[in-house]
Amino acid sequence: MPAEKNKKVFMMTKKINKKIIDNLTIHLTKIISETNAISLEDSLDLLISSEEIQKEDPQSLKLFVEFKKLLFAFHRNATDMEILLNHPVAQACANFFQNFPLRYRDEHIHLTGSLGAKFVYPRLQKILQGVRGNALKKQIETVYGQEAANLSSVSAINKLLRMNKNEHFSRYLEKLMLTKLVLTSKKAYADAAYFLANDLYTNYHVGHLRLKFTLSRKNSTQKAAEQITSGETVSAEDVVLGLFSGFSKFKTQHKDFDFILAPSFRKEEDYYDTARFANKTQDVESQVELILGLLEKYPQLQAHLNEIDTVGNERGFCTKRHFLSMKRAFRKLQFKGFYIRSHHGEIWDTLRRGIQAVDNAMNIWHIDTLEHGLSLGINPNYYFHSMYQRILHWNGKKEGVREGSLEYNELMDMEWNEFTAVRDKLLQGLPLTPKEKIQFTKIKFHTAREIEHYQHDVLNRMINKEVTLTALSSSNLRLTRYLQDYKDHPFSWWEKKGVRLGIGTDNYVTLDTNFIREMLILLFTDARDLKIMKLLIIASGEARRPYISNLLWQMRKKLNHK
Ligand SMILES: [Zn+2]
Repeated sequence: MPAEKNKKVFMMTKKINKKIIDNLTIHLTKIISETNAISLEDSLDLLISSEEIQKEDPQSLKLFVEFKKLLFAFHRNATDMEILLNHPVAQACANFFQNFPLRYRDEHIHLTGSLGAKFVYPRLQKILQGVRGNALKKQIETVYGQEAANLSSVSAINKLLRMNKNEHFSRYLEKLMLTKLVLTSKKAYADAAYFLANDLYTNYHVGHLRLKFTLSRKNSTQKAAEQITSGETVSAEDVVLGLFSGFSKFKTQHKDFDFILAPSFRKEEDYYDTARFANKTQDVESQVELILGLLEKYPQLQAHLNEIDTVGNERGFCTKRHFLSMKRAFRKLQFKGFYIRSHHGEIWDTLRRGIQAVDNAMNIWHIDTLEHGLSLGINPNYYFHSMYQRILHWNGKKEGVREGSLEYNELMDMEWNEFTAVRDKLLQGLPLTPKEKIQFTKIKFHTAREIEHYQHDVLNRMINKEVTLTALSSSNLRLTRYLQDYKDHPFSWWEKKGVRLGIGTDNYVTLDTNFIREMLILLFTDARDLKIMKLLIIASGEARRPYISNLLWQMRKKLNHK
């Protein structure tokens, strides 16, 4: 859809008032409960063909028709997700999800990217006025650059906490620094946990969360964003007990709230406390001892501290050797009943390695849940062919391939046999002859096929082993370069393949999203085939369909009492 037309839709929708959205919500709730939550597209069709709506509510009818057209436009790449999300029908869908009697499970959330400016701002002010204030301000400027000139209001901090449209993964890890600076005591962690629980519960209908957090930030990387020097030291015990007390306080006030604390180990080989340990393995094993010690000392933690995760930059963490360095520590945890989750297949140097990382996580760590797993969802034939088009485009302009780029890594990974001269011409930007182009096409084709075979092999093994996969659409779209659009996210494909799925927001403040928005994105990207029932099951973790049907009827009944 041309920009002008988009604008018109906006103008039209801007004038919509609450009453109209309430009407849409009523129609949606009725049709969903009466049809046992079929797909969105089918629901819209039935709403549009309803004689009652046609006669009595032409305004709602018009909006449903308009939204259906937008959905089609979205699938033809003629409009984007933001336009859909801003439409009144999307707001009615959000209301429907908010009104669903069961609360949702955010299966994947990090502390540092999920605390809003209202939490960070007052605490940061206090630190900046302290003795280390100037040094800290300098450190913040090193990481954030010019952006950090103004730290003096909630809205200025809000801007710093959220990522710009064109920022990617490495920047994202740095963006988390501001929040790390204010988590300086056990009380700060307790306050953070309470703040987070309250925000999720009150605003996004989340009643269960899995929180990923780091026990120890001591590390030898030389990056400013990783050096937290706010002066105060907070022990791993303080972190765990602080978080536990904050969430527990909220839980006593809200019986339908629950939480899991998942200490997370960074994957980077140089990320460990060099002052205390000779290598990473020793640091990880010591943290595991600490976790087990805490459970003995504070048995009340047991129901909430029973899984771990691995996080950070997984580039360079894919071979057997990397996994073996943490194997013994994880086995020890498993013997005590812990579940192992791991962030893998999120970013990669080559797609083959992205798949290999998941393969090894299953074989060597015996993971229970895979977080992200995008390498198992990308279509290798599409991935390699679009890359091939890009590279040939550069070649036509006599441009080479930059060393270290994704395209460079993939070209170097292909099996060229006696045709290495073709590869070298591509790398150097020397135009290929027609015959050489054919050779490139064939090598690309066989690479894609082979990797597709490997990918399906690993995915099928994952399905057989009933390993859960946590899908993180916005995070994957914003932080990796592999997806062009929300439509390219493999959630629907996985759902159809029978993968056990969960939904997470990752760092919803940094990524400028939230749980309800993620549900809408999943619903709109597969409006034709994804059953609303299935989405509710995945998001709430409640698998008893008849029970959900009953809950939907209760929602309908409530409408009549309004
Ligand atoms: Zn994550």
